Amino acid sequence: MLYSNTQFVRNVQEFTQQLMQWQGGNKRQLPWKNTTDAYIIWLSEVILQQTRVEQGMPYFLKFAERYPSVSHLANAPDDEVMHLWEGLGYYSRARNMLHTARFIMKELNGVFPQTYAEIRRLKGVGDYTAAAIASFAFGLPYAVVDGNVYRVLSRYFGIDTPIDLPQGKKQFAQLAQQLLYTPNPGLYNQAIMDFGNLQCTPAKPNCSNCPLNGSCVANAAGRIAALPVKSKKLVRKTRFFNFLILHTPSGGVLLRKRMAKDIWENLYEFLLLETDDQLLTHQTIGNHPFIKQLLNHYRLTFRSASGMFKQQLTHQTIYACFFEADIAQPEFFTLLQHFFEIPENEINRYALPKIINTYLANRKNDGAAQQLQLPLL
Ligand code: SF4
Repeated sequence: MLYSNTQFVRNVQEFTQQLMQWQGGNKRQLPWKNTTDAYIIWLSEVILQQTRVEQGMPYFLKFAERYPSVSHLANAPDDEVMHLWEGLGYYSRARNMLHTARFIMKELNGVFPQTYAEIRRLKGVGDYTAAAIASFAFGLPYAVVDGNVYRVLSRYFGIDTPIDLPQGKKQFAQLAQQLLYTPNPGLYNQAIMDFGNLQCTPAKPNCSNCPLNGSCVANAAGRIAALPVKSKKLVRKTRFFNFLILHTPSGGVLLRKRMAKDIWENLYEFLLLETDDQLLTHQTIGNHPFIKQLLNHYRLTFRSASGMFKQQLTHQTIYACFFEADIAQPEFFTLLQHFFEIPENEINRYALPKIINTYLANRKNDGAAQQLQLPLL
């Protein structure tokens, strides 16, 4: 902390007062704001975890329309929900959401829990989401703490305790709770979130036009870019995915569901060969052990190889390429036992990782022959 206790107490009072005034003139009109329906609020909060409002909005509208109540969602088929979630990332959110909807229907007689402790126990609901639902739906006095709140509070109060360490998390949670406007906790929580999104933004906060600029510590000390502090740098793993699209004689392609505890669990994919440090090429794919086995057992004729595609996830960078080949026998055998055949024109019915959809869209738009270099073995 960069200043005295007296100043701190003064700033606590000023912060809440100014923030609530700011909110009066800066309300963001969002479709989940004018409701106290806990289900709708929960839906919006789960969709917005790790997601920008602009990106989450169309998903919220789709889900709210298709599943207007918790029972509608609980009765939805898994694949349908995953398909609707496609492209939003962090797919565990969709799985947890389904699990929770079914739990509420089965164990809680379809009634959404109404206390912070019960809400917090729901699968996929952390401290932040529980505080948001408790305050927005039931007016309970719980302050939200997320990336916006860390940023605003660390700058305004000049706190340089790392936000990714237990000590920092505790300090910010206590301060956030102390600042809460108890006559209307939901409105206060919305205000601080909106303030972080619109005013005290990560890259270029609007300090010259900020009602808090006279007492903001980071503004006075020129430390805006340095706050909040994190102790660890984000380490990204790089992975190389070589997809092989196997076409059957009857115009089908082979697909499988990703079951492993990994990214994209429960989505569908083509045959995937992951390699250690680079992608395969049309010259090297024939040397891959699995491809050698396939070539030994089945007649395989390669059609094409794509260029490189990239998808950036929070903790992983995925590089991918796509090979297409015809496989002679339609009945599948031990090497391909987890695959099933679908008509190629029905691929859109399956929830696929974004990088596969990007490849398929490219192929469709550009025409396979132009976009792909023709090969090969
Ligand atoms: S003055 Fe700038 S850094 Fe301080 S609270 Fe306002 S927008 Fe954020």
